[in-house]
Order: sequence, then C-alpha cells, then structure tokens
Amino acid sequence: MTSSSSVDNKPAIETRRISPPNIGEAYLGERILCYRPMKHGSPNLSVVQEGGKVIAHNYGHGGSGWTLGPGSAKYVNSLLINSDFGAELSNKSTPIAIIGAGLIGLFTAYDLINRGFSNITIYAEQLKTLPSHYAGGLLAPVSMDNDHAMQAIIDEIGIEAYRFYDGIANNQNADFKKGARKVPSYFSSRDDSGLEPYVGKVMGPAKDVILDFGNGTTRAMVVYDDGVFMNTALLMEELHTFMKRHHIEIIQQKIHSFNELNQRFIFNCSGLGSRELANDPALVPVQGHLIMLKNQIPENMNYMILVYFGEGKTEMDQKVERSFYLFPKHLPDSSPQDIGVMGGTFIEGGSPDKPNLKEFDTIVQGAKTFFGLS
Ligand SMILES: Cc1cc2nc3c(=O)[nH]c(=O)nc-3n(C[C@H](O)[C@H](O)[C@H](O)COP(=O)(O)OP(=O)(O)OC[C@H]3O[C@@H](n4cnc5c(N)ncnc54)[C@H](O)[C@@H]3O)c2cc1C
Repeated sequence: MTSSSSVDNKPAIETRRISPPNIGEAYLGERILCYRPMKHGSPNLSVVQEGGKVIAHNYGHGGSGWTLGPGSAKYVNSLLINSDFGAELSNKSTPIAIIGAGLIGLFTAYDLINRGFSNITIYAEQLKTLPSHYAGGLLAPVSMDNDHAMQAIIDEIGIEAYRFYDGIANNQNADFKKGARKVPSYFSSRDDSGLEPYVGKVMGPAKDVILDFGNGTTRAMVVYDDGVFMNTALLMEELHTFMKRHHIEIIQQKIHSFNELNQRFIFNCSGLGSRELANDPALVPVQGHLIMLKNQIPENMNYMILVYFGEGKTEMDQKVERSFYLFPKHLPDSSPQDIGVMGGTFIEGGSPDKPNLKEFDTIVQGAKTFFGLS
C-alpha cells in the first residue's frame, strides 16, 4: 500500500496494489445459473391470519437474502411473538412449521431454537443446490427492491445481520465455526454499496482509494475495510449441522396450501415458491449468472469488488442489468486454489427456458475490461 502525496492539503488518497485473478479459460470453473426471489416493493415480512392458521411470511429478499437473513428471521419471529397470537406461543413446545430450507427457513429455525422453541418441523421441496447455496457472498443490501417506507426496518435488519456475521468472523459464535470473514469491499461509490446506513453503527467509514492492478490500469474506488464475505456454502453446512444437533426434522415435501399442514403456526420461507403458495404475483425470479474460479493464488483473493456496468439486452432480448463482481468463495470439497466467484447479471423475469448463456462470456469480458487485461 502507498499513499499519493497531496499538493493542496486535501487528504492523500491511498493507492493499493491488487493482483488481478487469472481469468483465462483454464482458470474458469463451474458456470452457474440461479434465481433470486425478489418481491417488488420490499421483502414480505409480515404476520397474517388465514382461516385457522397464523402465517409469518419471510420471503422476497432478492439479491440480499444472505445480507439480511439472520436479521430478517429475528425480525419476523419477534413480529409473531409480539403479535396478538404471541400468548399462544408462551408454551415453547407449540408445534411450528417452517416451509423452506433455504437460508431464510434455516435462520428462522435457528432463531426459534435459540428462543427455546422445541417442536419445529421444516418442510422443503428441495434441500440442495438452492439459490442460498449458490449466492456470491457479499454483505451489501443491494440487488433488491427497497420500498422507502420499509427502508428503516431493512437497515435495522441488515445491521443486526452484520453483527451476527461479525461474531462468526471474530470466532465469537459457538454455533458457527466458519462461514464469514472480514475482507475489504470495493465499490464505485458509497451510494452503490448500500452500506452507508451501517457506518458509525457497526462499520467504519469508507475510504477513497486508487486500485493499481500492476499492468498500467488503475481505478478510483471506495473501500470498506470491514466488509464481510459470507461463504454461503459453508454457512448452509453450519446451519444444517445445527439443525441435526437440535434434532429438527426436515421433511422433503412440496406444500401446495397452508391448510395441508397440521400446525397452526406456519413460517412461510419458501422464496420463489411464494409466488404460488402465497399467491403473490409481486414476487419475481431474477436470473443471475456466476462463474467459479479455479487454480488461483489464494493470498491474492482477499477482497471483494462490485461495480455496475448499466443496462443492456440479452441475446434473448431480455433486459439485463450488468455488473462485475468478484468474491473469495471457496467450496468445501475443492482444492485450496479453487477460490473465487465472478458475476453478475440481474435479469428480472428470467427463467430456465431462457438461460441467456452468452452472459457468461460477457462476465469474463467485463472482468478483463475492469482489470485492464487483454
Ligand atoms: C446469482 C446470485 C447471487 C447472489 N449473491 C448474493 C450475495 O452476494 N449476497 C446476498 O446477500 N445475497 C445474494 N443472493 C441472494 C440470496 O441467494 C437469496 O436472497 C436467498 O438465497 C433467498 O433465500 P430463501 O431461503 O428465501 O430462498 P431459497 O434458497 O430459494 O430457498 C427456498 C426454499 O423453499 C423451498 N420451497 C419453495 N416452494 C416450496 C413449497 N411450495 N413447498 C415446500 N418447499 C418449498 C425450496 O425448496 C427451498 O428449500 C444471490 C442470489 C443469486 C441468484
């Protein structure tokens, strides 16, 4: 790290040297296509009564499910416990159903268990290869819909979640031995990060820096040195280990209607499934493309970057918001050199029948442009 000197008494801007990752064909691993569950307006965090059932909805977090997950679970669980129905839950062995075993369903169970509830059953159509496993891992409340009226709550939830991951990163969480670490997070601007509401509460202020890629290319960026990388695959493992330790039954089953379940209290954490299950047309799938990296130099991968490139059209004529991001994701069973995930695309209404596969090449091109590689 160096600092450039200043002639007009403005604070000197630090220059940081970053070695770009290897992104030649031999260094590209699995190409992943997956779908963010995004509810227009904001995630559905609410408690409603439907016939004889009490439904606590917790879905629609878009590209920020991991950023918000632990806080969102705590918020919705408190909403139910403090509601008119809360008295019925004073008996901690009241039967509770959770629909969904993505991060939202599992964090919901985690928080309920920590509050002493013991009679929890999770129902999930799918347990593996979920968006929750594939997600990149940047802690930043971006790539979602933020209704102005909900912003203060979303900030509060995100700050709560930051504290949770900070505890894991600092080895202070007895339940999670791994899954989060602190790394510098670089963005084009403070606004692009969504993290300004966290500054002064849980994070330090961002700094202006120049990134020097050692090949003649430099970029003016801002950095939060206390950024959090969430290793989503490892965190899913830790959550499942916790469920096993607490003998929580996970039943693989698609639920078609809340009335199918015997339990009166139901947490709906079904992500994209809520479009049907909660009859919610405001919930849309947002397609994302990711490329895993392999054979990297791990010491060179201790940072995260997110820059936006703007809007375009895919080869299937769908609107796409393109960005370039890079996070140090490492899958549990891979070689220590197989580290890094690159993205990304944001294609609202994207579906598996329109995979927009050329976007993978566009991501690689975006990475080359960003780092000044030929
Ligand atoms: C490309 C990409 C990159 C991302 N990167 C990040 C990131 O860097 N940071 C971040 O914070 N977030 C990121 N996300 C967002 C994050 O992955 C999602 O917000 C999160 O996974 C949503 O979790 P979930 O539990 O709601 O849904 P899911 O993981 O989809 O889980 C839903 C669960 O509900 C079950 N289900 C659905 N319908 C039914 C039904 N009818 N009956 C029974 N079970 C049902 C499913 O089988 C599954 O078990 C990213 C997402 C994508 C796609």
